[in-house]
Amino acid sequence: MFRRWIAWWFPDLHRLDVSVRWRVWHSSYSQVWRRPVYWVLAIVIQVGVQICLNVPISRYARSHGFHGPIVSFVMPGVYAFLAGLLIIWLIRRAITQNLRRELNARGVPSCLHCGYDLTGLPEPRCPECGRAFNPQADDATRGSPDRSD
Ligand SMILES: [Zn+2]
Repeated sequence: MFRRWIAWWFPDLHRLDVSVRWRVWHSSYSQVWRRPVYWVLAIVIQVGVQICLNVPISRYARSHGFHGPIVSFVMPGVYAFLAGLLIIWLIRRAITQNLRRELNARGVPSCLHCGYDLTGLPEPRCPECGRAFNPQADDATRGSPDRSD
């Protein structure tokens, strides 16, 4: 159930064999989770949204005679929710990038930007998003295909 949801949320996983899929998923998300930059970013976004949106808007509302639970609780909650969606989007994006690097390292060439299957292309440019890629770049940093596990 949970895995079906993850596979739907990260369609790149379908390009991996089922035997390695969840191992790759685990390493892709734990790489993101272990990096403090994402925790700091999440806190900065949440605090920033409250300071930049909630403080001026609630001050404006109160100065125009609006008080009570909507100004004090509902509106800050809405901003926190929207900031949460932004954080989830950023984390999903980072995990997706790791998954695509993992695909490339395992001999399944994929565009890092859009996930397009880059197998057997005549030129090093993604036909889907138009971005150039270096066919050797990921192999060089993550181990050559003939050395793959
Ligand atoms: Zn692309």
